Order: sequence, then C-alpha cells, then structure tokens
Amino acid sequence: MSQEPPMTLPTPTPAVRDRVLTLSPTELPAYVYDLTALREHAAQVRGTLPERVELYYAAKANPEPEILAALGPYVDGYEVSSGGELAHVAEAVPGRPLAFGGPGKTPDEIRTALERGVERFHVESEHDLRVLAELARRVAPPTRVGVLLRFNLAVADGSLAGSSLAMGGRPTPFGLDPTRAPHVLRPLTDGTHPHLELLGVHAHLASGLDASRQLSVARSIVRWATGLGVPVAEVNVGGGMAVDYTRPESRFDWQAYGEGLAELVDSHPELTLRIEPGRALTAYCGWYATEVLDVKRSHGEEFAVVRGGTHHLRTPATKGHDQPCSVLAVEEWPHPWPRPAAEGEYVSLTGQLCTPKDLLARDTRAPGLRAGDRVAFALAGAYAWNISHHDFLMHPRPGFHFLTPADGGV
Ligand SMILES: *Cc1c(COP(=O)(O)O)cnc(C)c1O
Repeated sequence: MSQEPPMTLPTPTPAVRDRVLTLSPTELPAYVYDLTALREHAAQVRGTLPERVELYYAAKANPEPEILAALGPYVDGYEVSSGGELAHVAEAVPGRPLAFGGPGKTPDEIRTALERGVERFHVESEHDLRVLAELARRVAPPTRVGVLLRFNLAVADGSLAGSSLAMGGRPTPFGLDPTRAPHVLRPLTDGTHPHLELLGVHAHLASGLDASRQLSVARSIVRWATGLGVPVAEVNVGGGMAVDYTRPESRFDWQAYGEGLAELVDSHPELTLRIEPGRALTAYCGWYATEVLDVKRSHGEEFAVVRGGTHHLRTPATKGHDQPCSVLAVEEWPHPWPRPAAEGEYVSLTGQLCTPKDLLARDTRAPGLRAGDRVAFALAGAYAWNISHHDFLMHPRPGFHFLTPADGGV
C-alpha cells in the first residue's frame, strides 16, 4: 500500500493533550474544543481583514453555543441557513446581527425571521423574494427588511476549478441565475416592494479555495455587482476558505487575502464587503479523541479499531480523505488479557460500525500502536459531529469538552 501524500502529524495543544489523557476510557470518545486556540485564531483572522470588511460566521460549520459565543468578539454577525439555526443562534449569542440564507425557506421560517427582526435576508430565488415581500408587508417590521440577492455567478477565469465543493458557476439549486438580474432588480427598485430594501449581492460559489483563487472570485463578484446599474451598498463574497486536511498545521493565507480585500474596498469606497467563512474559522480548534480497542491484521494490512467512528466524525467519509491524527501513548494496561499491538509501521484506523465505510484514516504512521493508546483526530471543529449519523448502530454519544484558559495550555 502506498502512503501518499505524506501527511504531517497534527500536534494537539497542551490543554487538549492533558484533557484527552485524563479522561477515563468510558469518557471516550470525546470532542475536545480548545476555545483559547479558537479565540487566538479568530483574532488573527480578524486582524488581517481591513476595517470595511465584515466577518460573519457561517453557523452550519459548527453551531455549538460555546463556539458561537467564543467567536463573538471577533465577528460582526452570523450567517444562518434554517429556522432551526436562526432560533439556536439567536439564543446562543443574543442581539448579534444575523443574515438568513438558504434555499427552500418555508413561509413559517421567513415569518419568524421577520418577527425576530433579522437584519438581512439572502434571497435565493424569485419565489423566495415574492414570499418575503408579501410576508414583510403583513408583518410590517418597523424598518425596511434588508435584502441581498444571491446569484449563482459563472466566474470566467477558472478560479472555481480548484474547489472541493462548487455551489456556483454551474447548474445548482443555489441562488438566482445571473440572466434574471434585471427582472429581479426591477420590483426592488421601482417601489413594488416598499417593505424591502435592496442592500446588495451575495455569492457563495465554492468551498476549498486558496487565498489567490478566493481573491479573484471576490473581485469578479464585486465587478459584476457594481456593474448592475443599481446602487449596491453591500457585497457578500461568501465563505469557502480552504482547510487542507493533508497538512493540518497549514492555514489559509489570511494575510494575503486581507491585503487583496483591502485593495478591493479601497477602489470601492461606497461598498461594505462581507465574508462568511465557516470551516476555516472553527476546524482547527476541535479534536475527536478516543482510544484504541483492538489491533488486528487482515490480508497483510493492520487495522486499529477505535471506540466511536464515523457516526461521530463523518468528515473523512464525506470528503473521502484520511483524518489527520496524533497518537497519545498510554503505558498502563489494566487488563488481565494480553495487549494487542501493531507489528508494522502503518495502521488503518477504523471505528466500531459494521460497515467497511467506517474508516477514519488509512495507513496512518503509528508504529507499535497498542490497544489502550489514545488517538486524537485533528481538524474536527467543523462539519464533524453536526454532520454525522449519530444513531446508526446505537453506540453511546461522545462527551463534549470546551477548554478555556482555566484548563491551561495558554
Ligand atoms: C456553507 C456556507 C458557508 C460556509 O462555507 P465554508 O466552506 O464552511 O467556509 C458560507 N455561506 C454559505 C451560503 C454557505 O452555504
């Protein structure tokens, strides 16, 4: 079996390491979030962005209330994409600005959002706009309802080519077709919808783009939006900043991205620019920690079965990658039976589910890995627990730990 690409091993922060090693086997698996690391990272990201760029957090990446609250000082608001997220975020971080997007909003969700005074709606279709206009007329909020039209723009220069997940630039159910722009803009500018205020344009086109691609996408969106011939006060260029699962210590180049955005806002002094990342903000602070239950050999390859699996951490299954992980050796072996151990250097880490798809990491370098050793999977702070199929096979749920400076490691 080949071991490519060569994966760098992630290093848990001291606070995470301490917590993982102090939990008893029955307290594993566990999600351990280092909120101090999260705050430091978010402060760094915020620090690279020009003042006139607003940072919203896309709650769907990880909506744990502790995460939403920890991000509070560094973000300008939160992007929510369902009535459930809306209610949840409004409770976890009360009073913060919200942008409500997503395809297939129900009338009830829209009405509730209007009653809650949500600042911004990301309108995804002509029907979405008509329902919003009519409900806004009935609910009659004290101020006009802010609207950003989400467009599925084709970015001509191939910038979307490197993305891991493209929502735009090809046929998808997301946003409005750009050819419909004149038709959709008319009722927002000719007084047909007096309760709605056209604020601008939203475009979230792809996930997994590096900084230079993200910048060229942002420039294209701004160029298109400011060429529409109507006043545009805001442009939201979306999220999708890349997280590299093969290089857990690397980061999206926020410095270069911030500098590029600064040029963009400087050349458009009338514009507020907004970004709404999810993954690249929270992926790094989360760890899925567990212990090895069994080690065995099968047709020439070694497998370590860990407590838990992809029903808790579905990310490697959905993205088809190996989740980077770090082994924390445990010397004690309290059992009367012999301790299984790997004979070779490379081991595939699997979970407890009765399906070959329950694969967390293939051929990970873990020489001599033993039952009872602990494994901490990195980059588990986004699209991890909340996208997983928790009830499949009815294993117990993991514990959740939110580490603060009181837990050390600062
Ligand atoms: C999912 C999503 C985001 C966040 O994407 P990331 O890849 O997590 O940064 C932002 N905006 C919209 C509309 C989304 O659907």
